[in-house]
Amino acid sequence: MTQLQALSKEELQSRLEELTKQYEDYQGENLNLNMSRGKPAPEQLDLSMEMLDLFDQHSTLHAENGIDLRNYGGLDGIPEAKQFFAQMLAVDTKEVIIGGNSSLTLMHDTISRAMFHGVAGGARPWKDEAKIKFLAPSPGYDRHFAICEHFGIELIVVEMQEDGPNMDEVEALVREDELIKGIWCVPKYSNPSGAIYSDEVVERLTNMETKADDFRIFWDDAYTVHHLSDEKIEVKNVLETAKAFGNSDRPYVFASTSKVTFPGSGVAAFAASEENIADAKKHMSVQTIGYDKINQLRHVRFFTDVISLEAHMEKHAAIIKPKFDLVYNTFREQLGNKGIASWSEPKGGYFISLDTPAGTATDIVQMAKEAGVTLTGAGATFPYGKDPEDKNIRIAPTFPTLKELEKALDVLCTCIELKSVEKLLS
Ligand code: PMP
Repeated sequence: MTQLQALSKEELQSRLEELTKQYEDYQGENLNLNMSRGKPAPEQLDLSMEMLDLFDQHSTLHAENGIDLRNYGGLDGIPEAKQFFAQMLAVDTKEVIIGGNSSLTLMHDTISRAMFHGVAGGARPWKDEAKIKFLAPSPGYDRHFAICEHFGIELIVVEMQEDGPNMDEVEALVREDELIKGIWCVPKYSNPSGAIYSDEVVERLTNMETKADDFRIFWDDAYTVHHLSDEKIEVKNVLETAKAFGNSDRPYVFASTSKVTFPGSGVAAFAASEENIADAKKHMSVQTIGYDKINQLRHVRFFTDVISLEAHMEKHAAIIKPKFDLVYNTFREQLGNKGIASWSEPKGGYFISLDTPAGTATDIVQMAKEAGVTLTGAGATFPYGKDPEDKNIRIAPTFPTLKELEKALDVLCTCIELKSVEKLLS
């Protein structure tokens, strides 16, 4: 297919008529398809059902340190859960706290604590500063941005590249501005582009000079075991690297089993320096007497006695990889070489980042909606929901069936081309 830009006005006009007819046909089908949020498909949830059979009323529910899991106690997690997450995140067990069912809650609470009480070693609570700011490598994860927006923290967009944020931009900003207290990072299979942080980026982030001496890296390792290819990518260990540079308190690491077992019923973890862990525990003890220890042990047993974590994640990949492949193949067939779209082809994670011509994403998402296909809102991948170029669309292919996905992609490609042709003709 030729680049659309190379077509004559008459050719574009006739293509517009074809596409409009196609779009109207889709509208007549009364579709109801959803590619908006990164949810596992039901078959993926089935993979963890055995976990529910591990305990019944006859089970001995004690942790290895003797704690009765049915009762209060064990604020920071049972030892075997700490060992599990310490291994997954390649940190020491003394550097881990086990939380509740959501890593997002841990991130929210970490910021809330910093706002009201300051961070370990910090001079004062962040709320006492004139205006706190965070760096937001974008496109990024909308819920990270929402936490900051909720607390009135200003977000500064920095460019997201294939190997992490543009570090020249990051370094220049943090060196000058004392009010920049943090940066959001999804280091492996980033949401939404699938970017993988390079060693150099990890080193520069942990070593850079920051005007704020209480600067923190919010290292959301949500997709650390979510590989889609045989290549099991390792990102340089952020805690270890920060320690080596004498900045051990800088990273806060978050992870969960949400997309490993059951989103909403998984286990979350927080990893950081021992000083940061002690500080977090102090505040956590006011918030809860302890999290769900039965669920912690259920997870540990499932992955040590029933199936290994790696084997389990391979089963997930076998279900979702064909969906990612379908997206790439459809985009290549229907949009490739037309000069109107580019997209990421990640090696893991849950999303694909799609760029359409500048100024079209909002209209494309709306058109798709009017034809029964719901996508993540345009702009959602940028702070305040504002994509400055209005071109980025996040594709979440895991939840729909292959058949639904095929239809949804056909509709989306039609909308993209239709909007692009209209733009060229205007
Ligand atoms: N971080 C990222 C990057 C995510 O994509 C998601 C889920 N979409 C989360 C965190 C949410 O994790 P949890 O369920 O542990 O709160």
